Amino acid sequence: MIDCGEGTQIQLRRFSVNLSRINHIFISHLHGDHIFGLFGLFSSYSLMGRKNDLHVYAHRDLEDTLQHFRSRFGIGMPYQIVFHPFTADRQQEIYSDRHMTVDLIPLRHSVPVAGFIFREKPRLLNIRKECIETYALGIRDIRHIKEGRDHVTADGMVIPNAQLTLPPVKPRSYAFCTDTAAFSRLAENLKGVDLLYFEATFAEKDKKLAKATGHSTAAQAAAIAQKAGAARLLIGHFSTRYKSIEPLLAEARAVFPDTTAVEDGDVFTV
Ligand SMILES: [Zn+2]
Ligand SMILES: [Zn+2]
Repeated sequence: MIDCGEGTQIQLRRFSVNLSRINHIFISHLHGDHIFGLFGLFSSYSLMGRKNDLHVYAHRDLEDTLQHFRSRFGIGMPYQIVFHPFTADRQQEIYSDRHMTVDLIPLRHSVPVAGFIFREKPRLLNIRKECIETYALGIRDIRHIKEGRDHVTADGMVIPNAQLTLPPVKPRSYAFCTDTAAFSRLAENLKGVDLLYFEATFAEKDKKLAKATGHSTAAQAAAIAQKAGAARLLIGHFSTRYKSIEPLLAEARAVFPDTTAVEDGDVFTV
């Protein structure tokens, strides 16, 4: 899960998200609208008898608050909160497992802020089904071929890997960027991302306000998506000053047509 604002738990229940499937929480920055739901969630997990570790990735300044929470409200908690502190001042990998990595990218706001890029790890080559029979390949041969090796038959003939395999499926990526002012280097860090969530707090007419508060306009979000070569853009985190978000969406689409304004409960496939 990324960020945990005050209403998060209510919304998770409303949209039937299984709370016990959340094991890693990535916090972009320490502003209330992004973290005030954490402590309620910690308590709920205690009441639910959670046993699995809960990993929290956030700016190191959250440490004090976490420690206070643990000593004041965490007595007898049946699970561990494992804190992974960062400083958000440089790009770095903060998570990795067999299937994916999470990279932190520094953003610009009134406090240190991290954007997160979730990337699938490159997959193995796909073996051509018919080759398994033709060359009577065993499990070990198949593993080696999927890793890129050529195959040597029993009578010493070398079958090049390219004849045996098809390219792997392209690894997918998703980036989450909020709250941030727009700056050009950001697009480089987001190069080629498949799905980009970017904040669009303000309309173009309030560009000055965006700059002053460390936020972006919808058109700026779209320009970054365009420059990064993103496949698709999602915008959100709209200021409550706008009665309708249609003008913001139109401003973004004028620059980057494949833009969607997101609402709570929306689901997107990468
Ligand atoms: Zn903020
Ligand atoms: Zn915010």
